[in-house]
Amino acid sequence: MNVSQLAERYHAVRSAIPPSVKLIAVSKKRTVQEIQALYDLGHRAFGENYPQELRDKQPQLPTDIEWHFIGHLQSNKIKYLGAFTRLVHGVDSVKLLDALADRAKGEGRIQDVLLQVHIAQEETKHGFSQDEIRALWATDPAEHWPDLRICGLMGMATNIEFQAQVEKEFNGLHTFFLELRSKGPGRSYFKELSMGMSGDVEQAVKAGSTMVRIGTAIFGERG
Ligand SMILES: *Cc1c(COP(=O)(O)O)cnc(C)c1O
Repeated sequence: MNVSQLAERYHAVRSAIPPSVKLIAVSKKRTVQEIQALYDLGHRAFGENYPQELRDKQPQLPTDIEWHFIGHLQSNKIKYLGAFTRLVHGVDSVKLLDALADRAKGEGRIQDVLLQVHIAQEETKHGFSQDEIRALWATDPAEHWPDLRICGLMGMATNIEFQAQVEKEFNGLHTFFLELRSKGPGRSYFKELSMGMSGDVEQAVKAGSTMVRIGTAIFGERG
C-alpha cells in the first residue's frame, strides 16, 4: 500500500465534493491496514458491502469509525451487523424492514436505515419501486416500525457512459425524495439521499446527493 498515493487520492476526492456532502469511503475487499491508513488521515465514515466482512473487520479497527452497510442485505445476515452499524443504506423490502426492526428491538436500540429505490435500467439492481414506497408512506412507517428511523433514500444509477441517462435517474430520485418529504409525516430525520459512486459522483452531487459512496477513486481498483 502506498500511503502518499492514498492521501493524494483521498484529498482529491474530498475537495471535489462540497463540504456539506458526506463522503463514505467504500472499503469492501480492502484490508484493515488500508482502512487504518485512511483513518489515520482523519477519515471516519466507511462503507462495507458484505456482512461477515464487516463483522470481521470492525473489532480490528478503532471504535469511533462510523460504519455504513451499503450492500444488498439478506435477513439471515442481519445478525452480523451490530450497534456499530450507523446506517443501513440498501433496504429494499418490507421483509427486511421487519427483520431489522426485530433485531433493533431485541438489542434495545433504534436502527437508522435508508430505503433503496430502483432507478437503473438494469434488472439486476435492487430496490423498491416508487409506488411501493408511496404505499409505505400512506401507513406512516415510523408508527409501523418504531425501532427504525427511515432517514432517507438510496439509489444506484445505470452503469453506463451515457451521462444524460445517469442525470435523469439521479434527478428523478431527488424529485421523489422531495415528494416524500413534503407529503410524508414530516420526520425531521428524513433528510439523506445516498447516491453517487466513483464513476458518477459529479452527476449525483449536482442532483442533490447528501452522501456519496466512493471506493475506487480513493483506494484504487479492487483486486
Ligand atoms: C462498491 C460500491 C460502491 C463504490 O463503488 P466505486 O465504483 O468503487 O466507487 C458504492 N456503492 C455501492 C452500493 C457499492 O456496492
